[in-house]
Amino acid sequence: MFIKKIGIDLGTANTLVFVPGKGVIINEPTVVAISLDDNRILAVGDQAKEMLGRTPDMIIASRPMRDGVIADYRVTEAMLRYFINKAAGSFRFFRPEVMVAVPAGITSTERRAVVDATLQAGAKAAYVVKEPVLAAIGAGISINEPAGHMIVDVGGGTSEVAVISLGGIVASASVRVGGNKLDQAIAEYLRKKYNLAVGDRTAEEVKIAISSALPQKNEQTFEVRGRDLITGLPKNVTVRSNEITEAIADQLREIIQTIKTVLHDTPPELSADVMDRGMVLSGGGALLRNLDELISQATGVPCYVAEDPLLCVVKGAGIALEHLDIYKRSVMSQK
Ligand code: ADP
Ligand code: MG
Repeated sequence: MFIKKIGIDLGTANTLVFVPGKGVIINEPTVVAISLDDNRILAVGDQAKEMLGRTPDMIIASRPMRDGVIADYRVTEAMLRYFINKAAGSFRFFRPEVMVAVPAGITSTERRAVVDATLQAGAKAAYVVKEPVLAAIGAGISINEPAGHMIVDVGGGTSEVAVISLGGIVASASVRVGGNKLDQAIAEYLRKKYNLAVGDRTAEEVKIAISSALPQKNEQTFEVRGRDLITGLPKNVTVRSNEITEAIADQLREIIQTIKTVLHDTPPELSADVMDRGMVLSGGGALLRNLDELISQATGVPCYVAEDPLLCVVKGAGIALEHLDIYKRSVMSQK
């Protein structure tokens, strides 16, 4: 079968590729390894992530999407080429149509850069749609109705909050707080409280294993391996989930503040809809235990986690590309 349509979610943490009829066929970290002497791209995705933090001097592993925006155009183009080739094959008769999800706050220059990079990478046509819109489509929300729907996507670099009605964004805000900042806050906590130095990947493991947005009665524990800052030697420390809850509280407050700002900016009829239907959480951060509960308590608006929150955006891109006629109002640029 020839692959004619490809949806891509180029996230700060993970890049996913969805092909209608096949589902999510690629799910790899958004990382590229580059050799410094001749500026060559050595590896992309899983292979490159293995190199993060372990590279010799002449190789750097970089995350080209910073805060959800293209920080390095050449590297991003190489990544898009890698993922399009991997999905569609490099010896193909048809060039595929490609839809790319972009952050809602993207500038028109950045949007053009994404379209150009996609075409350069071998697409026949490139469509760009805002991430919250795609997240909502992927979460099964009927975005084309004349009613307010709120979506909160907590990714690696940013959290994006939007109210959507009639296929478009009515109110939105983005904050540079996501999973990465939670990891950093956990690492900082372990350093201050236990004089324990840990890398970002270890902090992320702790988060995924035991963290909760609200204090828990039955706490879980996790043995963290790091380096003692005083002796310089390896050391293990056992942490409890409520300690992690405390460590990430400030970051979560910033996300909630952003949700409140958007609720405040939403026209009254639409906020009544949001109150009735509740808001939907997507993105990997939605998997943080009790985040839905914390947000409901803090805002007074019911909050639900979407099914497969990590896949919402890319699934939405696949669905929108398959039904361009229905979702054409939501497409921002195409070429
Ligand atoms: P992006 O769209 O920016 O690439 P994703 O939606 O893929 O981000 O989410 C990645 C983030 O989700 C990472 O920070 C990761 O640590 C976090 N994450 C993944 N699984 C969990 C989990 N079970 N609990 C908490 N955070 C998680
Ligand atoms: Mg995302």
